Amino acid sequence: MEKVRAKKHLGQHFLSDKNIANNIALALTSHGNYQKVLEIGPGMGVLTQFLLQSDKEIFVVEIDKESVAYIKNHFPKLNHHIIEGDFLKLPIDKLFHEQIAVIGNFPYNISSQILFKVLDHYMQIPELVGMFQKEVAERVAASHGNKSYGILSVILQVYYDIEYLFTVHEHVFTPPPKVKSAVIRLRRKENLPENLDEKHFKNVVKTAFNQRRKTLRNALKPLLNEKNKLKVEPYLNLRAEQLSVKEFIELAQLLKN
Ligand code: SAH
Repeated sequence: MEKVRAKKHLGQHFLSDKNIANNIALALTSHGNYQKVLEIGPGMGVLTQFLLQSDKEIFVVEIDKESVAYIKNHFPKLNHHIIEGDFLKLPIDKLFHEQIAVIGNFPYNISSQILFKVLDHYMQIPELVGMFQKEVAERVAASHGNKSYGILSVILQVYYDIEYLFTVHEHVFTPPPKVKSAVIRLRRKENLPENLDEKHFKNVVKTAFNQRRKTLRNALKPLLNEKNKLKVEPYLNLRAEQLSVKEFIELAQLLKN
């Protein structure tokens, strides 16, 4: 069977280094005791072949018909575990009733959307291992005080511990992407915050980073009033990137009361 022709609009860059593919598959640690793994965008299955060597039940979701045909042909073992469609539209909670890990060499054009979707289902997803554009990986894994630290880092780190695992060079892909890549791992925290108003929290974080060079006194102006201003006074001379995730949670709670 012929190889899949790489389509740019689907973010197709096929990994050609088996060693790296194996290392990505091995980065899953079973954190949270899941039995199922969902791979997003298997393409020609370079990662899938190693996932199938594990003791987990493997599912794949792939939007590209040509790749789906390739996978069906080469991995008969997967049979009815091949979902043809868009991960972003996948009803995760309807399809899977148990905990499920997510893995993939992700299409870079939708990588933030993938992360936001995972976040929406954090109760069901204890672990994620993924290849991202290096810059996005750094942003997701960054801690406070780092210039890459931003909205995505804070919101994800409320629910997940995040590790930057390794950098991947362009030349191990066909066709090579324009940027470097990196693999990161997210593991759901054992202690999740209680009674967090998620909508309000996201709004505070977004507002704070909207003008990241200004102090919070200026950046948070739309959310401040005479009363809550006093309670959050100690934070107001800082800039968003100086606040840890824990401090953001506290700030949001103080602003609300
Ligand atoms: N895992 C393969 C392919 C990576 S390229 C490898 O490492 O070689 C990204 C893959 O994601 C492609 O196969 C592409 O068709 C698929 N894809 C792109 N958008 C998708 C979406 N919304 N849902 C599911 N798969 C998608």
